[in-house]
Amino acid sequence: MSLALAQVIDETSLTDHVRAFVQANLPPIVDAIDTGALYPADFMRKIGALGAFGSHAEVKGVDLNPAIDAMSEVAEVCGSTGFMTWCQDALVWYVANTDNVALKDRFLARVASGAMLGGTGLSNPMKSFFGIEKLKLKGKRVEGGYEVSGALPWVSNLGPDHIFATIFETPDGGKVMFVADCADPAVELLPCDAFLAMDGTGTYGVQFRKAFIPDEMVLSHAAMPYVKKIRAGFVLLQSGMGLGIIRDCIELMQRTKTSLGHVNKYLTAQQPEDFASALGALEDEVQILASTPYETSDAYWRRVVEARLHIGDLAMAAAHAAMLHTGARGYMKSHRAQRRMREAYFVGIVTPATKQLRKMLAEMAT
Ligand SMILES: Cc1cc2nc3c(=O)[nH]c(=O)nc-3n(C[C@H](O)[C@H](O)[C@H](O)COP(=O)(O)OP(=O)(O)OC[C@H]3O[C@@H](n4cnc5c(N)ncnc54)[C@H](O)[C@@H]3O)c2cc1C
Repeated sequence: MSLALAQVIDETSLTDHVRAFVQANLPPIVDAIDTGALYPADFMRKIGALGAFGSHAEVKGVDLNPAIDAMSEVAEVCGSTGFMTWCQDALVWYVANTDNVALKDRFLARVASGAMLGGTGLSNPMKSFFGIEKLKLKGKRVEGGYEVSGALPWVSNLGPDHIFATIFETPDGGKVMFVADCADPAVELLPCDAFLAMDGTGTYGVQFRKAFIPDEMVLSHAAMPYVKKIRAGFVLLQSGMGLGIIRDCIELMQRTKTSLGHVNKYLTAQQPEDFASALGALEDEVQILASTPYETSDAYWRRVVEARLHIGDLAMAAAHAAMLHTGARGYMKSHRAQRRMREAYFVGIVTPATKQLRKMLAEMAT
């Protein structure tokens, strides 16, 4: 489906289309993705063709809810693929918001339709902007662009024909956000050691060795105001990952009621109804916030950070409760409860991680 066609699908029908496709095609491959035997490029391209990444490509009057809802359908079945959906959505968000018309013309339709896949290397920059670590990529001005060196430890949804966005620092302290091409021989993808989950997410260490980044690949020569513009969208889009995992954990708890309800009822304040009510409140909050991602007030940004923190906390709590409800069944490697638990921890550690969100809130209060 073309970008234009994807845009005319309204939110409900986009969610319905994605749900139907996900339910039919993702369950058979979820274990292969979880164990790292499969990076599901084909699946990603197909949900892209359905419009899953296209609803926020047109920034005028943008509403991030359709993208979040579609992502939550994916994450309800597979957290790894839900995360890759966020990687792609974030990339689309960056390209859609650049003033570099040539870059937008070159990439936007392709990334928004899933024809070209890619990700986001903003964890290190986002941590550096909040005083947690230093920027790992350094660049200097050269004729027609920049020369960039350094390494990022983890960037996901990558492959040899993929692209991703990240930020380097110049000697005078300037920050430049750009798109890197994984096909460039000076941009090397390095395999990572096995993770607890997420091994099928195309995650690599990325080494830049004096890579030439032409001006045509620069999203913003002055990254700080640009990051301020895209940061709420970057964080809010992640909601889909957590909300989908929480929904499935509630379903797992519901399922045990018939056989184990007589004993599971003693799991006080950890009943599916408790999580459903907390989930409903979070969904309502996300829906409001995601409809105005360019809001600039401090109060709005605080609500975004709080919502993201609560989604991570609820995902981990719901996955923990799902383990207790499913018991020995859920402890088996063949059962998805243990996979949901491993995936839920990722919501709490991917940038902005729980500890970073708490730091940000603590610093806002002073
Ligand atoms: C599976 C997976 C996928 C990820 N995908 C992306 C992505 O697509 N884009 C992105 O920008 N970030 C990605 N990250 C990074 C992620 O967003 C977080 O930054 C990371 O999980 C650490 O966050 P933290 O706040 O807990 O940092 P901390 O754990 O407190 O500190 C992490 C820092 O310690 C150092 N470090 C510690 N252990 C190692 C190690 N074994 N190897 C290298 N460095 C190490 C690094 O400097 C790293 O930045 C991914 C991480 C994982 C585990």
